[in-house]
Amino acid sequence: MTRLSTHDAIIIGAGPAGTSVALTLARRGWAVAIVEKRLFPRRKVCGEYISASNLALLDRLEIGDAWRASAGPQIRRVGFFSGNTRVEAAMPPARAGRCADDGFGRALGRDVLDTLLLQAACSAGAEIFQPFWPVAIDRDGDMQTVRIQASNVSDEHTMLRAPVIVAAHGSWEPGPLPSQLAKTSRPSDLLGFKAHFIGSSLATDLMPLLVFPGGYGGMVFADHGRLSISCCIRRDVLARLRGNRLPEQDGPKENGHLSAADAVCRHLMSSCRGVSDVLEGARLDGPWLAAGPIRPGIRACYERDIFRVGNAAGESHPIIAEGISMALQSGWLLASELGGAPTGQAGREAAGRRYEATWRGLFSTRVYAAAGIARLAFCPGGPALMRVAVRNLPQALTLGAHLSGKTRRVPGFG
Ligand SMILES: Cc1cc2nc3c(=O)[nH]c(=O)nc-3n(C[C@H](O)[C@H](O)[C@H](O)COP(=O)(O)OP(=O)(O)OC[C@H]3O[C@@H](n4cnc5c(N)ncnc54)[C@H](O)[C@@H]3O)c2cc1C
Repeated sequence: MTRLSTHDAIIIGAGPAGTSVALTLARRGWAVAIVEKRLFPRRKVCGEYISASNLALLDRLEIGDAWRASAGPQIRRVGFFSGNTRVEAAMPPARAGRCADDGFGRALGRDVLDTLLLQAACSAGAEIFQPFWPVAIDRDGDMQTVRIQASNVSDEHTMLRAPVIVAAHGSWEPGPLPSQLAKTSRPSDLLGFKAHFIGSSLATDLMPLLVFPGGYGGMVFADHGRLSISCCIRRDVLARLRGNRLPEQDGPKENGHLSAADAVCRHLMSSCRGVSDVLEGARLDGPWLAAGPIRPGIRACYERDIFRVGNAAGESHPIIAEGISMALQSGWLLASELGGAPTGQAGREAAGRRYEATWRGLFSTRVYAAAGIARLAFCPGGPALMRVAVRNLPQALTLGAHLSGKTRRVPGFG
């Protein structure tokens, strides 16, 4: 059985990028459909920190107050934990927004944030198809049709038609859509891990960067006293850690090897003194999550008649914790271009070109800056060099936060 439904725009994926574009278009009176394959609330591999530069945008999306009420403490210091080194420096404040307290970023669990954004999109009139995923996109004159289904075995399909298709499905999962990236499996691939802990002793206003052999990560307090700890680790390093288990090591095992999450956790604790110190006496809240490989880089923002936002358009190494900002802001930028564009193919193409130019102007520097820092963290002797540099010049951490876009205003917000 097939159902047919026509909209002005179909958004694939309900992360911050998809809901930002959907909310903005729906508030402008567009008929919007969102297709999301997972049920919410769901947890996600992410450090969950959001820079203060997004607060005016969250207010415009009308979730600013809910975000302020739920998010964790203000992050006023940036840190660096590697080996036995622990260095701290001031987080540069963003220009204060509507409230005097708006100058510093905070973290909010993705189970909470993404649900908040999706509920707001639904209230604004977006039609939500969840859990559904697209199996094919076809051109149909000036329209495109997206065939979606609720499960792999179901022969019930829904056909969605719209002139505008937005890929907001992230970049970590391969699939049949032209906007999805091909699967990779290279030793240098970076796999993402994340967990929440309760009862940790990290200072509540500090967000340390973690640098350890084969990877990097971060820690920050999110909502409800949850410490969010996340990291990326090379595939080959993880394989070695799992295989090289010492006989006396206990822990969950898969096929005689240490589980990936257990290997990552032990590696973090043994290679970053700061991690083992703050996690002493803390308890895991829910399981470790894994995702990836991540796909840092800049991609086309508009290709084969599909617009891309968030990670689908481009991704910085999470070493700078700016992916949610880029997702929210790119969704807003695209919706602003589309909202004012004439209808028809020529209007969409012109909007696509303008959106891509603004995207590159706003985000390219942070993508390249993050790639440079990540390259240093991975090169032989890199972590040791970073330790010496940061110990001698802690202000480098403040400068790094500036360069990563944490204080940069979104165009159109004064
Ligand atoms: C270890 C780690 C730590 C990080 N820490 C931070 C941080 O502290 N701060 C920060 O700003 N960024 C951080 N990031 C980056 C951030 O998580 C991403 O950049 C951000 O989630 C991108 O948002 P998005 O909306 O583009 O995609 P996503 O958040 O990935 O959302 C995509 C959505 O699409 C859905 N989807 C996927 N495929 C399909 C499909 N075929 N059909 C339908 N739905 C689909 C998914 O279920 C998901 O809900 C981190 C990343 C990693 C790996």
